[in-house]
Amino acid sequence: MSGHASACDVCVIGAGLAGLSAAALLRARGVDVRVIERASRPGGRAAVSRRDGYTLDFGIHSLRFGHRSPAARVLRSLGEQLELCPQRDSESYVIAGGKMIRRFDDPQAFLATPELTVGQKLAVAAMVSKLILWHPASAYATSLAEAVGPLARDPAVKEVMRFIGFAIMAPDPERASAGEVSDFLRAQALTRVRVADPRGGMGQIVDKLVRKLGPGRLRLENPMRRMAFSGRRVDRLECDQGTQCCRAVLYAAPLQQLFDVADPAFFPAGLVHACRALEPTSGLTLDFGLKRPVSDLSGSLIDLDRGAMGKFPSNTDPGLAPAGKQLASWLVMLEPGACASKERIEEAERALRALIERFCPELFAQVEWERRLVHPIMDGVHLRVGQAFPDRQPVRCPQLDNLFFAGDTVRARGCSGDIAFQSAMEAAEAILGFLR
Ligand SMILES: Cc1cc2nc3c(=O)[nH]c(=O)nc-3n(C[C@H](O)[C@H](O)[C@H](O)COP(=O)(O)OP(=O)(O)OC[C@H]3O[C@@H](n4cnc5c(N)ncnc54)[C@H](O)[C@@H]3O)c2cc1C
Repeated sequence: MSGHASACDVCVIGAGLAGLSAAALLRARGVDVRVIERASRPGGRAAVSRRDGYTLDFGIHSLRFGHRSPAARVLRSLGEQLELCPQRDSESYVIAGGKMIRRFDDPQAFLATPELTVGQKLAVAAMVSKLILWHPASAYATSLAEAVGPLARDPAVKEVMRFIGFAIMAPDPERASAGEVSDFLRAQALTRVRVADPRGGMGQIVDKLVRKLGPGRLRLENPMRRMAFSGRRVDRLECDQGTQCCRAVLYAAPLQQLFDVADPAFFPAGLVHACRALEPTSGLTLDFGLKRPVSDLSGSLIDLDRGAMGKFPSNTDPGLAPAGKQLASWLVMLEPGACASKERIEEAERALRALIERFCPELFAQVEWERRLVHPIMDGVHLRVGQAFPDRQPVRCPQLDNLFFAGDTVRARGCSGDIAFQSAMEAAEAILGFLR
């Protein structure tokens, strides 16, 4: 660690989606901001890789609510547009109870589907309406299964309930927070925009945010090792490239890692425990560069039985693979704690490979290269009962006057990356208020 010290208004720890968004928003309001990043490239869990003419996200990434997403709102506030791939006529499938069916997302497709009887359709409609309209104070602390109760007694209706939970990466109705599901369904009913993919992958967003930040403000390969306190304030940050002093600090990394760099004695025991125990969703991803196209799937395949999904991103965005070739991306969720077990990871991988083989038997014969990643933290927070919206830490740290939080583990609406963008907007506003 060097003895060199520098000063700025706001220091942001982490150049993931949240840190970059908040920093760019603050910069646009004239704030002198620095971003301290441990890795050699920006983007965090949404970083993009480029190899042999392919552009790969860090595992399958899509945006809920397309142009109405928090990501699009952040970019609009910065005078940028989010470019999305066209979604016209895309076809998606769901596997439930061993059976593969065409996925229905909009009301017309739902009414027309031959997969459900009239009685089942009525039960699904009653279940969804109840979740959209029902929002008592206890909703976040109630499981989806409990909230829906007898409406989902029918096995087919139960599968629809699992699918709704999967949309916020909480497919187990016994654990998913009904309040979070309800928030998602209400947002979807209001925006009426489906999931969409950014053109060029998440790299489009990361590149735009880095550009908006301007030169010299992002310090890569510069881990922050220690947060030093003085009274009710963060006094300085000790980083590999020197000590950083600033008026406000935005910690924009997963809260599970906060006490690797901050002395827990400065925080209440409950907060320390809550951060350390915060359960993320975890997963394993397989990406393949294929010598030739093997599938014309234009949407995605979701396997509710295995908690897995797959897509061919270059089918919607041909720029992601070289001409005549194809990019395939697959993901399987891992149960809590499974990332620590080699056997459970291998078991999940075997299940995922079996799914790929079943859906697309030609794929493995066309593999040019493959990438396998295990993600102990896929989404920072699993939206289950006990860690729903009101249970998470607010963007302004109650104990330290100049410390703020952003990222997909904090208290902001949405799920996964939406929380990162939403919390960044809220943290930037809170910091501007503090600086004034
Ligand atoms: C495989 C996969 C698929 C996903 N799919 C989707 C999807 O389809 N839709 C969606 O909305 N979300 C998805 N997500 C989740 C989404 O990627 C995350 O919610 C989002 O990237 C989180 O951003 P963040 O800024 O909060 O955190 P991060 O991306 O974790 O950023 C934190 C940054 O802080 C840095 N850092 C940490 N500690 C320090 C330190 N001490 N000093 C300096 N730097 C530090 C890290 O290196 C990192 O760059 C997916 C995630 C994965 C892994």
